[in-house]
Amino acid sequence: MMAYETIMNLIKSKKYDIDNETLKFFSNYFFVAVKKGVIPTEVTLESLIDNALIFASKIEFYDENHRVYKKMGGDVKGFRDPESKTIFIRSNLEEPLREITVYHELHHAVQTNPENNEVGINQLSNIGRLIMEAQTQYFAEEIYEEIHGVKFEEREIPSENLRMASGGVVVSKLHNYEMYDNLLTKIGIILEVPKDYFVSINYLYKNNLGLKLLEEKYKIAKNKYQLPYEFNQFLLYYDYAYCVDLLAYKDNQDKQTILNGEITQKYEIHPNKGLELSLKSQQYYLSQIDGCCFLKLAENGGNYKNFSKYIIDNQKRSLAMQYIATFEEQKQAEIQNKM
Ligand SMILES: [Zn+2]
Repeated sequence: MMAYETIMNLIKSKKYDIDNETLKFFSNYFFVAVKKGVIPTEVTLESLIDNALIFASKIEFYDENHRVYKKMGGDVKGFRDPESKTIFIRSNLEEPLREITVYHELHHAVQTNPENNEVGINQLSNIGRLIMEAQTQYFAEEIYEEIHGVKFEEREIPSENLRMASGGVVVSKLHNYEMYDNLLTKIGIILEVPKDYFVSINYLYKNNLGLKLLEEKYKIAKNKYQLPYEFNQFLLYYDYAYCVDLLAYKDNQDKQTILNGEITQKYEIHPNKGLELSLKSQQYYLSQIDGCCFLKLAENGGNYKNFSKYIIDNQKRSLAMQYIATFEEQKQAEIQNKM
């Protein structure tokens, strides 16, 4: 495996005037990417470093008096400024989120397509946006865990604490974007891939290869488990959940509409797919997918038990638990009858 020192020197050779702190974050990022083997064979480490440097060559922390704070407000955690090629991180964020946000933004820079500035599998409109964003936060936290030698534990977070409708629980070990992570976990179970798979395909933005690979994988699972959703429809629900969350988060005219539980005007989620946004519909779509995928996995030999833990809606989750308990009882009875 490539030594940390080697990676650091490689980065320095490409940008001799890089400051020490930025160099440290870059080295941490690429060290873990190499160590975890998430870089697909279609791209090289060098090309990824080059790509990162196109969009970000400096990491800067800013406080309340900084022009960035005044412009972006106190909610934004970090962002990439393409003009100054700087990743800005709000300095009053608490650790570990502060450092994780550095990796989050750096990961975006590495996975940005220089031809159109779009990121990862999300090359058109919002298609694949939730998965792109979810794997970003997942991998950023993986880097932190790896570099600091810590392990984050999964938590059960009440849905209303996450700008969502009440009546659910989101299981995730992340410090941000927990709902996206919960959805990523579930599609990982359905596709039978580790989460690192989603990290890998997001490096393949060229010709939208990553999204195509994902679609192939999805089709295999759809057949195997008899899932009723077409790939585009499945992604549409995921990206709907993303768009509702985004509007409830960033400053915009509909932020309060969403947070008050009301319905917005139509937004184009995917090309020619305009939908009104609300927490209620978000809850409905997610609970439909959860319920349906759980049953299909259970009927067709999938990992429904693992899946059940991540069902968000409280009623649906407890139904799933009952189903599992009954099923186990039946199996026990069958075994006893045979003996
Ligand atoms: Zn992001």
